[in-house]
Amino acid sequence: MSLLTIEDLTVKFSSGGTTVTAVDGATLSVDGDEVVGLVGESGCGKSTLARTVVGLHSAANGQVVFDGQVVSSLRGSALRAYRRQVQYVFQDPLSSLSPRLSVGKAVAEALDIHRIGRPSSRPARVLELLELVGLSAAHADRMPSALSGGQRQRVAIARALAVEPRMLICDEPVSALDVSIRAQIINLFLDLQREFGLGLLFIGHDLGLVRRISDRVAVMYLGRVVERGTAHAVFDQPQHPYTRALLAATPSADPVVERRRDHVLLAGELPSPSNIPAGCRFHTRCPVALPTCATVEPVERPVDQEASDAVSCHLGDPAVPQELAVS
Ligand code: SF4
Repeated sequence: MSLLTIEDLTVKFSSGGTTVTAVDGATLSVDGDEVVGLVGESGCGKSTLARTVVGLHSAANGQVVFDGQVVSSLRGSALRAYRRQVQYVFQDPLSSLSPRLSVGKAVAEALDIHRIGRPSSRPARVLELLELVGLSAAHADRMPSALSGGQRQRVAIARALAVEPRMLICDEPVSALDVSIRAQIINLFLDLQREFGLGLLFIGHDLGLVRRISDRVAVMYLGRVVERGTAHAVFDQPQHPYTRALLAATPSADPVVERRRDHVLLAGELPSPSNIPAGCRFHTRCPVALPTCATVEPVERPVDQEASDAVSCHLGDPAVPQELAVS
């Protein structure tokens, strides 16, 4: 059983008579002690999905199951325990740190809220946590505004770790940082993930980075996970035309990989989530669409063990006539 399972999750927002389906039947899972990368274009619903997992948005349909319990059914102490066990690391650490609390007080606040340790032991624990993320006692009295972006993200990570979580959800946690320190923060995440055996859902748009750090990967398009599998399978044997197009648009620093790279261009803009195309939602941009793709939505199906775990595409589906592509 996976630590976190997201089953057929749908999230809608309504405004001015328009309904936007930001997440539309998304399914994925994260085991304890593994890194799952979640990729897709901006606006495909990655962050909305992740925020729904931690209760920042409500699901219109589907469910989130954590450690065997349906999260929407949790109340009282069980709900508080869940909120403690799943921590969110935001892209911009300033959005999760109070400008009025010093670094030490920000970390101590997490211990206080969840009543972790005796009050007398918390100052020492704060210093331990700061050292764990590569800061020192000298940083404890500083305000977030006096820190660099990388230092702020270290404080946000220390605050998340303070409550002894079992899972971190990292929402593009390095994309707001200088390129020169991204690797340090990523290595910190990986070290902590291994040291504490955390499940880690990592949202990213840098496919090279996601490939490097992930055990498994889920590819999201217009609110739905269209392909998922091991990082090796998804990146080396992508089954879904959208995954192939995403990879084709990403140059590789490895000359061998770069030579093998398809150069299929991802045409057109991401359609609006308020007007999701009928049939396969990718058919308006798919270079290999079949006639049936415009009318029949593909269901997720398992694929060869050598390839991804599951894909939502008619191509190669023995149950679907494979007529000539229409474009
Ligand atoms: Fe392309 Fe059809 Fe597969 Fe959709 S179902 S990705 S349109 S081939």
